[in-house]
Amino acid sequence: MIKAHISFFFNVARQKNIVIINAVRRVFVTYFFMNNDEIWEVVLGDIEAQISRPNFLTWMKQSQLVSKDEKDGAVLVGLPNNFAKEWVKSRYHKIILGSLRNLDGSIRSVDYAVVNANTAEAVQRRIQRKQGGNAVVSQFLKPQEPLLELHIDPKTNINPRYTLDSFVVGSSNELAYAAVQAIIEDVGKKYNPLFIYGGVGLGKTHLIQAAGNEILKKYYNKVRVLYVTSERFINDVVWALRNKRMEDVKTKYRDIDVLIVDDIQFIGGKPATEQEFFYTFNTLYEHNKQIIMSSDRPPAAIPTLEERLRSRFEGGMIIDVAYPDYEMRFAILRAKAQEHGVSIDEDILKEVALRVKNNIREAEGVLNKIIFCQQVKNERVTTKKLEDIIHEATTRVSKRVATADVVRVVAQFFGISPQELVSRSRKREVVEPRQICMYLMREVLGFSYPHIGEKMGKRDHTTAIHAYEKVAKEISQNSGLNQKIMLIREGLEKST
Ligand code: ADP
Ligand code: MG
Repeated sequence: MIKAHISFFFNVARQKNIVIINAVRRVFVTYFFMNNDEIWEVVLGDIEAQISRPNFLTWMKQSQLVSKDEKDGAVLVGLPNNFAKEWVKSRYHKIILGSLRNLDGSIRSVDYAVVNANTAEAVQRRIQRKQGGNAVVSQFLKPQEPLLELHIDPKTNINPRYTLDSFVVGSSNELAYAAVQAIIEDVGKKYNPLFIYGGVGLGKTHLIQAAGNEILKKYYNKVRVLYVTSERFINDVVWALRNKRMEDVKTKYRDIDVLIVDDIQFIGGKPATEQEFFYTFNTLYEHNKQIIMSSDRPPAAIPTLEERLRSRFEGGMIIDVAYPDYEMRFAILRAKAQEHGVSIDEDILKEVALRVKNNIREAEGVLNKIIFCQQVKNERVTTKKLEDIIHEATTRVSKRVATADVVRVVAQFFGISPQELVSRSRKREVVEPRQICMYLMREVLGFSYPHIGEKMGKRDHTTAIHAYEKVAKEISQNSGLNQKIMLIREGLEKST
């Protein structure tokens, strides 16, 4: 009842534009134990006043506060899909963190995850099940959502789902696997640092987190392990610099025995973070602490990486993971089905292994849909059904997408107007998005070059050819670009 009054008070205050003194707010949070929803409601009110109405409705309306860790002040914000998650993270992180900290000064960091109503419900049921309730199996309700992300131990950040037992070894990853095994035997002494690189969805995160899990198990939690994405590391450093709390960050990262950093390629090009990482790296290294890193490419191919950091990485062990062959893809799919406790026809698994070859994550997505069909909907997966599932997973964006959608989504992604996108402007901020737009019109809609030129402000067809070829070539070398295009494609899917 009291809480309802407080929420009401905040709402009225907001509507009337009354500025609530931070200290007072904090007292409310502390003494009346506002729950997550109530805290988030207040924060949303704050954010609403700082960004435009359409942006608020599009991006923030469906957000939620998933968890708040009292001990280390970490907050997890849930967004309904990956596109929204990336968007909010890149555009509104500062505002969100600011508003949260205004309300509660003990909050120190914000992370984002894909969480929607189904996921939240599913998680709830899983928890009930764990606690002895008799909830139905809900793991497959939303096959591709990272449900288990929510059960991560905040001290280590490691997801218990990733184990060596569930990691299938074959010629494409046996060296990386062997190196990880050697490290588990002899932490910090061999292969330090270990640098594993390879394409998207090939099991890097799985393997390096499994290393962390096995080390924790083998040494009865006596060895302190910390897993972070490089993004998280960057956020920590940026936050510490801004709030003059560098000492805390130093302690956090230097007071451990095994540091695992995922997707280290993003560290490059950010001087303050690189420097901090370099110091952390040296301190740990000099004390024989183990460092394990993953990246989408070898150190030499991270163009912005500082020389001294690169040579440090190269001083250890560098191993790549390659694309798995058919046998291995099949073995992985079989193992995943077993993990889920589901029996699936071998012919179906073979077909998936044969057809979905680019990355394991995609194959797993197909498998989850098959399981969903069989288990939840009680439907037999016919050849036709399988064909549909594979088709849907491999041709990402459907034909329903119209030209206007591509222009709109690309413009929105880059924060420019659709008119600007097709205009004659040669400004850098417009040229790249325009080229990406033309590339997508060809890739997604299959338009002819003259048609693309026509749609993009009556340009010549050679301009369209040039744009397409440029982007197509760069995608393979520039993971930042690749990532952007993936996100835009995802956004297109969601928009239809
Ligand atoms: P990356 O980090 O290289 O992009 P991930 O580690 O996230 O890839 O792997 C994507 C998915 O594929 C995960 O669900 C992971 O468990 C699974 N996977 C990848 N390789 C293997 C493997 N060798 N054995 C079992 N599962 C795998
Ligand atoms: Mg990864």
